[in-house]
Amino acid sequence: MNTPDWSKNENGLLPAIVQDATTKIVLMLGYLNQEALAKTLETKKVTFYSRTKKRLWTKGEESGNFLHLVDIKNDCDNDTLLISVRPDGPTCHTGSDTCWDEENTSNYGFLSKLETVIKQRRTAADGSTSYVASLFEKGINKIAQKVGEEAVETVIEAKDTNDDLFLNESADLLFHYLILLQAKGFTLEQVVKVLEQRH
Ligand code: AMP
Ligand code: ZN
Ligand code: ZN
Ligand code: ZN
Repeated sequence: MNTPDWSKNENGLLPAIVQDATTKIVLMLGYLNQEALAKTLETKKVTFYSRTKKRLWTKGEESGNFLHLVDIKNDCDNDTLLISVRPDGPTCHTGSDTCWDEENTSNYGFLSKLETVIKQRRTAADGSTSYVASLFEKGINKIAQKVGEEAVETVIEAKDTNDDLFLNESADLLFHYLILLQAKGFTLEQVVKVLEQRH
């Protein structure tokens, strides 16, 4: 990292864009002074200078939703930081994942987590090694076909009396359905909204 140009702003603060290291979603914007940067590098937890609190502010100090440091970069003229993080939870104080009204991904408990994992597998550079990534590579038709197969297997097991087989095929179906949703560019949230509107 180049030395930041602290003289650029009279107040000695530089703006920092905070980005999720995995999803690349922009989470928030904050300001750092030299002390905040030093503390961030030392503790590996992103610490800003809060202009409202007029003191160092470690994001997550009350909520527990810390931003774990992955990388810090300077921009072309060393006056803006890009901080790559692994967030513990929602970054915005409103409970949203980001300060730009991104849907909170924890609405559906483990299914939401699974949705996030599927997204991460899809975007991972070494994706070809994961089953999910290989499915994405094969395309929507193949994924849709998989959903069809798992649906048929679920139907077959529904006629039987083996609860274990039925539950396992149901899980396969749900899993591949989440992948199909993702491949089509939709979220579980959108499907639930349609269901709610029908109600
Ligand atoms: P936290 O740092 O998450 O423990 O939150 C402590 C306080 O900082 C909250 O009560 C808010 O006033 C403020 N805050 C938290 N997150 C943000 C954010 N993303 N942007 C602006 N203010 C925030
Ligand atoms: Zn710049
Ligand atoms: Zn916010
Ligand atoms: Zn199956």
